[in-house]
Amino acid sequence: MMYPTHKKLGYAFGLAGIPVVSAISTSEFVQNNNLLPAFGIDTLQFSNPFSFIYYALIVCTALWASLYGSGFPDIDSPGSIPANANIFNKGLSFIYRITGVNHRGKFSHGIDSLTIVFFITYSFVTFLIPSAISGLLTEESLSNNMYLFMLNFGKGGAFISLAQVFVIFAWIGAMSHMFGDMSTREGVYFSGVASLITNKRTKVKIVPTFIIKPFSNVVDTSQWFSTDSHWEISFRQAVNIVIYILIGVNVLYFLGVSIF
Ligand SMILES: [Zn+2]
Repeated sequence: MMYPTHKKLGYAFGLAGIPVVSAISTSEFVQNNNLLPAFGIDTLQFSNPFSFIYYALIVCTALWASLYGSGFPDIDSPGSIPANANIFNKGLSFIYRITGVNHRGKFSHGIDSLTIVFFITYSFVTFLIPSAISGLLTEESLSNNMYLFMLNFGKGGAFISLAQVFVIFAWIGAMSHMFGDMSTREGVYFSGVASLITNKRTKVKIVPTFIIKPFSNVVDTSQWFSTDSHWEISFRQAVNIVIYILIGVNVLYFLGVSIF
């Protein structure tokens, strides 16, 4: 699948993820363990304009992250747009190249291997960095200062809270990439780790080739479910419609309309 399609899918998954992650973020378990900043309609204080800025900041971070994540798996192909997007991606792309991970390789396009990468990053952000900077940001210094309100969401401070949101939504974006590639003929690895260990190249596709085969006797099916085809353009347009629907869902969610 091409980058413009992955981008659209990233937005769609990110928009779908916002109400879900927001609902999870306010749960007691998440809050007691500082796993995510609490965000969403319940956290809005109408007398405090900062709470709206805070909500907007999280939503923007979430969408930016899901867009980033949607291109993340293709960092392994040096010519791709994500591989050249920034210094970090360029560096990662270089590491992929010298370690011999090819495009749609077992590591870069595996659901579990991607999840492991983002889980390690999340753990680093959630548990390692806070203990490192806990000496710098004390709870009193934050809660007693009006100007530090923005820093006070999530007990670890603004930077960590936004980093947590970024990593979670980047993972959601990466899963959207898996969904996109899964709907093409090439498919993706369900378990990148298992295929690395067993050296099997079993891939997951949404539409198996045997369903397309019978049609090939009647019509030209070479373009069906293939990358950069008319089919992909139609797919992209369909995702576009879904994006508009999801924007509507998010507006309703923000207005406090219960959709679940
Ligand atoms: Zn890909």
